[in-house]
Amino acid sequence: GSTIGIIGGGQLGRMLAMAAAQLGYRCHIYAPEADSVAAEVAAEFTCAPYEDWDALKRFGDSVDVVTYEFENLPVDALTPLAAIVPIHPRLSSLTIAQDRLNEKSHMADLGIATAPWRAVSDQASLERALAEIGMPAILKTRCFGYDGKGQVRITSPDDVATAFEAIGAQPAILEGFVDFEAEFSILLCRAADGDCTFWDASTNVHRDGILAVSTVPPAALVAGQAREAKAIARRVADAMDYVGVLTLEFFASAHGPVFNEMAPRVHNSGHWTIEGALTSQFENHIRAVCGLPLGATALTAPRVRMDNLIGHEADAWAEILSDPTAHLHLYGKDEARPGRKMGHVTRLMF
Ligand code: ATP
Ligand code: MG
Ligand code: MG
Repeated sequence: GSTIGIIGGGQLGRMLAMAAAQLGYRCHIYAPEADSVAAEVAAEFTCAPYEDWDALKRFGDSVDVVTYEFENLPVDALTPLAAIVPIHPRLSSLTIAQDRLNEKSHMADLGIATAPWRAVSDQASLERALAEIGMPAILKTRCFGYDGKGQVRITSPDDVATAFEAIGAQPAILEGFVDFEAEFSILLCRAADGDCTFWDASTNVHRDGILAVSTVPPAALVAGQAREAKAIARRVADAMDYVGVLTLEFFASAHGPVFNEMAPRVHNSGHWTIEGALTSQFENHIRAVCGLPLGATALTAPRVRMDNLIGHEADAWAEILSDPTAHLHLYGKDEARPGRKMGHVTRLMF
């Protein structure tokens, strides 16, 4: 029996561990927070800081391969781990994806369209960047942003004085505002031998910066751009010699797909694949990092819809279950704080 090490203790780790268990693997979770919904479904849990090398080394020695469910990891602290156990996706992918400046530069090198952007390090560089890019624009921290946190919109000259402070006066990028018709994501899984599978592009609707709904098949405009977006995703994955599930978020604009950001991991916009695809993102990720062949990704229904249950929305679980076709997933989190992802519900439509 092999053991998979998973760094990060949240719901993505939990669903990875559940998929791993189905294939007969044990999972060992490593996370700094004692409260871990992934650890609850795993065989072993190490609760220690990433910088605790003794703990990390024991973790590395206890597993056959390491993956992660979270991209805001200190790559320097993990680098010695890569010398004792394979880590997939590679830490080099993490270095690119966890910093918006690296990510955007990498896409520019590959000739991939993004919003216009400039690096910002202080008030003066913000003002120079705004003069070049114009308004409206979005100022985003280079690192650690998620669910729309760490970003602020600049729509009028009044916003300029406060924007850099508003994101905590840290290294940032300024992006021009993309006039998009819809947002969508491409999830692919790349095996160690370079074989790649794609799921259907999902159309994603965000509320308050947080993903609310994903649907497949994609809306018409998105469908027309999905082939090009998949080719882009493939190029990105090949360039990183990527192993595992990779997610790219796009804006569907009048001029074609515009890359927004990527996540070097399984993704909320792929939760529908658990019931809605022949093989889920979680299972294929496990297969890829363990060197197994990938499973088929075709839809299991003509249409699939995933709704996130944010904060107290999950309190309505009994009502959701009164629809016998609803697939309810609750992550086992104790406290329904506003904006916290508590679960999701997937419906297949025939
Ligand atoms: P996630 O939780 O997806 O990781 P995040 O905090 O990393 O989110 P982004 O995906 O960069 O943030 O932005 C959040 C949302 O803000 C996007 O899904 C989109 O709706 C909007 N947005 C971000 N950048 C732009 C842009 N340049 N033009 C227009 N809208 C944007
Ligand atoms: Mg993000
Ligand atoms: Mg995003």
